[in-house]
Amino acid sequence: MKEILFTEPVFKSMIWGGNRLKTEFGYSIPSDNTGECWAISAHPKGDCIIKNGSFKGKSLSWLWDNEGHLFGNRSEKAFPLLIKIIDAKADLSIQVHPDDEYAALVENGSFGKTECWYILDCDKDAKIVIGHNAKDKEELKAMIKDKKWDDLIRLSPIKKGDFFQINPGTVHAIKAGTMLLETQQNSDITYRLYDYDRLDGKDLRQLHIRQLHIKESIDVIKCPHQDITIEGEIVTYDTCKVHTLISCKYYTVKKISLWGEQDFIQNKDFINFSVIMGQGEIDGIKISKGDHFILPFGYGEFTLRGDMELIISYI
Ligand code: ZN
Repeated sequence: MKEILFTEPVFKSMIWGGNRLKTEFGYSIPSDNTGECWAISAHPKGDCIIKNGSFKGKSLSWLWDNEGHLFGNRSEKAFPLLIKIIDAKADLSIQVHPDDEYAALVENGSFGKTECWYILDCDKDAKIVIGHNAKDKEELKAMIKDKKWDDLIRLSPIKKGDFFQINPGTVHAIKAGTMLLETQQNSDITYRLYDYDRLDGKDLRQLHIRQLHIKESIDVIKCPHQDITIEGEIVTYDTCKVHTLISCKYYTVKKISLWGEQDFIQNKDFINFSVIMGQGEIDGIKISKGDHFILPFGYGEFTLRGDMELIISYI
């Protein structure tokens, strides 16, 4: 199979979203508060359509169900990864995800969610929420009950090019002025711990505070928080650099920085690609910032050419 599967992103308006998916990535977005681009996704809430070739017009979930050989006939019930670009104009709610075990038990057999973030761009003083300061569950419960959010929540400064792995049980949030690329397990289970007491913008007449999930959050938050340090391997060639950002049970994510031409080999079940900067070609096909595609099983050798940066992922 020597055909590249280009995906058509699905966009999501969010109360915290902005317009940079249009101004910086050139996408046609549905509103000026577009928060998420689901770039490679087979999730029922945003199932990407293939843009080209013999599978043009088919959804990624349809391909997974009917053309499993494209993905190495893997055993998962659904395409296991989800790639998003997020534009946070305002703060996102502070949240935590369950692991597979808790999700299977409490969420009807769903998968848990491990995710990771590559910072595409951010404001000069931007920060991110990762972790908390409670020493154990009792202190966590007390701090939540007393609304000691500033004491509880741990903030870290960020800059372009930073990378974060968010394991299940980790308190986390993206804050205002941040664009990032997220690679995650294909799961939508999020427990919202705190939303800055914001109202749901969709229907202000009802003045509903956005729904929180305090009990589930307390169940799954790991105490005390433990920082993860990743020392990703960097391999440098004549015309490119390949940085392994993370390799865990659920995915491997790498960044390719290219300034010329380089041959590679696709020998995985499938590989997801997102062009995050610049332009060039893959096997003679023009690609540029904002393009997302999958190289299917058995693709073999491929050539990248140009000046660009790409984030790739596979299992
Ligand atoms: Zn999350």
